[in-house]
Amino acid sequence: MYYHGAVIKEGKVDPNNKVIALSFDDGPWRKNTDSILKILKRNNVKATFFMLGDSLANFPQQGKLIADEGHAIGNHTWHHFYHRMDEQTAGKEIETTADLIYKTTNIKTTLFRPPGGIMTNCVADYAKKHNYTIVMWSADSIDYSHPSVPVIVNRVMREAKPGGIVLMHDGGGNNRSQTIAALPQIISKLKAQGYSFVTIPKLLQMQVATK
Ligand SMILES: [Zn+2]
Repeated sequence: MYYHGAVIKEGKVDPNNKVIALSFDDGPWRKNTDSILKILKRNNVKATFFMLGDSLANFPQQGKLIADEGHAIGNHTWHHFYHRMDEQTAGKEIETTADLIYKTTNIKTTLFRPPGGIMTNCVADYAKKHNYTIVMWSADSIDYSHPSVPVIVNRVMREAKPGGIVLMHDGGGNNRSQTIAALPQIISKLKAQGYSFVTIPKLLQMQVATK
């Protein structure tokens, strides 16, 4: 149902269907995730969080809160390795993270995002083989490089489109202040353009429904 084993970077929806999916990687993280969850809640927006096992082990309460507030969760490996792995290591990266996500949130995710979007170091192959949907993105905020808030906002707005998937980060470092400042502006500008926000599982369902 969720395009098992496929690689997607956006949902193929009707161009008049202004839906978009916000996604947050590398968390959960203590203060950053809390701030992002507050903004999402205030705006009644559901998003998708691609978690690292290592981050979730550090911040299980934030991970549980993400699930409790109705957001979707994806697997982003344990260590965020970029280097080439053998199948056993790749499997461990994914399975230990899947186990911890399930133990912490009661969610069995079928979504996988490879660290750095790297498709050739064995983790994506392992995930495909095990029927995950490989979720890339169509709009990269490049927030990890700490640009100014208007740069993040403008980049996302320029790349926004129906069925789009926006990449941002709640984890991967203590300073996500630009992301947190940009997020309410991104949400309100997209809403002003008529967009509504969906989780990635929901986007994939809509994609099936349009076939
Ligand atoms: Zn990442």
